[in-house]
Amino acid sequence: MTARILSGTAIRDQIFAELKSEIAHLSAAGIRPGLAAVLVGENPASQLYVKSKIAACEQLGMASWLHSPPAGSTTDYMLQLVDDLNGDDNVDGILVQLPLPSQVDTKKVLEAVSPAKDVDGFHPVSLGALVSGRPGLVACTPAGCMEILRRNHIPIEGANAAVLGRSDIVGKPMALLLMHANATVTICHSKTRDLPGIVRRADIVVAAMGKAGYVQADWLQSTAAVIDVGTNAVKDPAEAEKLLRNFPDRLEKFRAKGSVLVGDVHPDAINTAGALTPVPGGVGPMTITMLMSNTVKAAKMRRGHAFSNNAARDVSHSASAKNAR
Ligand code: NAP
Repeated sequence: MTARILSGTAIRDQIFAELKSEIAHLSAAGIRPGLAAVLVGENPASQLYVKSKIAACEQLGMASWLHSPPAGSTTDYMLQLVDDLNGDDNVDGILVQLPLPSQVDTKKVLEAVSPAKDVDGFHPVSLGALVSGRPGLVACTPAGCMEILRRNHIPIEGANAAVLGRSDIVGKPMALLLMHANATVTICHSKTRDLPGIVRRADIVVAAMGKAGYVQADWLQSTAAVIDVGTNAVKDPAEAEKLLRNFPDRLEKFRAKGSVLVGDVHPDAINTAGALTPVPGGVGPMTITMLMSNTVKAAKMRRGHAFSNNAARDVSHSASAKNAR
């Protein structure tokens, strides 16, 4: 049996449609949600990410601003910029694109972002709210994984969930979200013993390790829902041949292009798992989607008092209220 494909692009389209109508309601009430992106220097990958985030804002009718300080910017300069954005009432979300140049104190800059505008969910106040189950802004990638599970009606309550990876931006918040949704969560990391045994008992597997094809197909239950967060660019022909031996079309594309994107779960899992997010096209599109959703949520939380009662009632009934946690 082939696993059910849990498409992130399909869910992105659903959420974008909901957000579009919510943004139109907010704009009619005088609140146009807005995202300020800060991109330091000229890292091509970061430029590409920021470009797609700004394009998503435009697609949805949100305001956006791009600040591009030079690569040599200091921590003090960055702190002043973040302070200005914190004080700008039109800015609902602040996105500081990582990585920052080595001379900048990244932690200090991220902690300077007002928690009310922390749409990446990286601030300790946002993490604290998540730990204690209070409303707040949740890191985009794990929030997107939860949307994939929920909107595909994957049962979470009572499920055994294995989260592979314990980073601050994916593994830890993911484990907390699953726990709050009443899953029984096992958090795994590089020192975990018998990873295959833990994965074999899991109804839900979230792989966020950054290791191409590490989770083997025969570790997975035939009913398991697998969320593959890993996005690994494989360039070594021998590795690509090994991972894609059963996928001649993908191998052909690899040969033409010299690289292929592979998740942390072995591609053969398509023949063993119950349901699976593809790479690409699974978790990837959800990260930007949840950034947009968080910006709208931040606008409502910070400026919501400015609505008329009617507008507020309309918004609370709109579909994206489902996203509020
Ligand atoms: P990270 O900070 O490098 O963390 C990797 C985690 O995996 C660590 O906790 C590490 O354990 C654990 N790990 C490493 N080897 C392991 C093993 N053999 N068994 C079990 N656990 C192991 O990575 P990240 O930032 O969380 O990202 C993880 C992956 O997700 C990467 O491929 C990244 O590109 C991808 N990602 C994708 C998106 C998206 O939008 N699709 C967004 C974010 C990240 P230790 O703590 O013991 O070192």
